[in-house]
Amino acid sequence: MNEIKRVLIVGSGIGGATAAYALRRVGVDVHCIDIKTETPMVGSGICMLHNAMRAMASLDLAQACLDSGYHFDAFRQFDSAGQLLRTNPAPPSCGIRRPELARILETAAEGAGAIFDRGLTVQSLVNRAEGVDVRFSDGREATYDLVVAADGVYSRLRQQLFGTDCSPRFAGQSVWRFNAPRPAEVDAFCLFRTASGRTVGSFPTSQESCYIFYLENSPEPLRVPEAEAHLLIRERLSEFTAPAIRASLECVTQPRQVIFRPLDITLVPAPWHRERVVLLGDAAHAPTPHMTSGGGMAIEDAVVLADCIAATQSGQAALELYSNRRYERCKTICDASLQLCRNEQQDPLGNREKSAALLLSTYQFLGQPI
Ligand SMILES: Cc1cc2nc3c(=O)[nH]c(=O)nc-3n(C[C@H](O)[C@H](O)[C@H](O)COP(=O)(O)OP(=O)(O)OC[C@H]3O[C@@H](n4cnc5c(N)ncnc54)[C@H](O)[C@@H]3O)c2cc1C
Repeated sequence: MNEIKRVLIVGSGIGGATAAYALRRVGVDVHCIDIKTETPMVGSGICMLHNAMRAMASLDLAQACLDSGYHFDAFRQFDSAGQLLRTNPAPPSCGIRRPELARILETAAEGAGAIFDRGLTVQSLVNRAEGVDVRFSDGREATYDLVVAADGVYSRLRQQLFGTDCSPRFAGQSVWRFNAPRPAEVDAFCLFRTASGRTVGSFPTSQESCYIFYLENSPEPLRVPEAEAHLLIRERLSEFTAPAIRASLECVTQPRQVIFRPLDITLVPAPWHRERVVLLGDAAHAPTPHMTSGGGMAIEDAVVLADCIAATQSGQAALELYSNRRYERCKTICDASLQLCRNEQQDPLGNREKSAALLLSTYQFLGQPI
């Protein structure tokens, strides 16, 4: 039995909530906190690739995702007017709305006995060889055997314990995202392309809904006036006359329906722990979204961390094993994602074949056991 018996997870996003459930399943007491007061009920969609679904299946949660989401296994390419150009096989994937995924993970974790505290953060932390003393933002104090920093790409705990060398850096693109009712033709991972290589992507997130994204190049991070986001996305996509895109845009009438953010990335060198604090998910490795894999990597991290704790006796041995099992795999995904991002920025048309080959080989890599 491992000496790690009581864990604090900071951040209840995809990685933190999965870790809460995976750790409860191996008998660890879990306290999971999030600075946000509640699980957001809006939010875009996410594509869970074959490896993410395999990790969810190992937690007996794959079917719940498929029940709420939408299974697909094809790529469809359209021109900007909506003419279907080709269909290729894609890895079996599940598109799902993020709030639905959060609900599935949190319900499972709470049902298994994990304690969630929202609207709470770590005010200060003393990381000792014997335990971590935490003072919370509401003044409470507690000591844990392990703290899992699952607080995302802008992780404060990473900054505190690993310094600023791994601070996120801008990858040269920003992303616009929104949800819409699913048009019949969006029944797979769909890309709509103009003759100059500008691309809009869409995939189903349930029988009724789909998710649309558009990546925009810029040498510096773009700042957009939030109140005009709905007008700006319409302007940017005016060249796309495909009925599926026009119908989706018709539904975007409020700025809050559009999520805009620059793509900031990071990869922390192994090992991912300092004494008794360990990084998980985007806090350790935030790729660009081109491989649709950051969430899947966070889910895999959680499964592997629980596995390492269950398989070893000392806390340090578990944490070393965890970094060893995760680092190279996550680096491969971060590198491939960034290469795809650069290919798009440099020459989207000229690099199309190269990018397709990289995507395919990385999907195959993702199929390897974790
Ligand atoms: C445009 C885009 C599209 C993407 N598409 C996909 C996709 O299709 N498939 C896929 O697998 N991945 C995708 N990803 C990646 C995926 O979203 C991330 O990898 C994933 O959300 C990481 O999960 P996480 O739990 O590590 O971090 P997050 O989801 O960022 O969660 C971090 C949590 O920590 C909380 N928090 C932050 N700071 C504190 C603090 N100080 N104290 C307490 N709590 C705190 C936050 O409130 C949040 O709930 C995409 C990413 C982007 C940007």
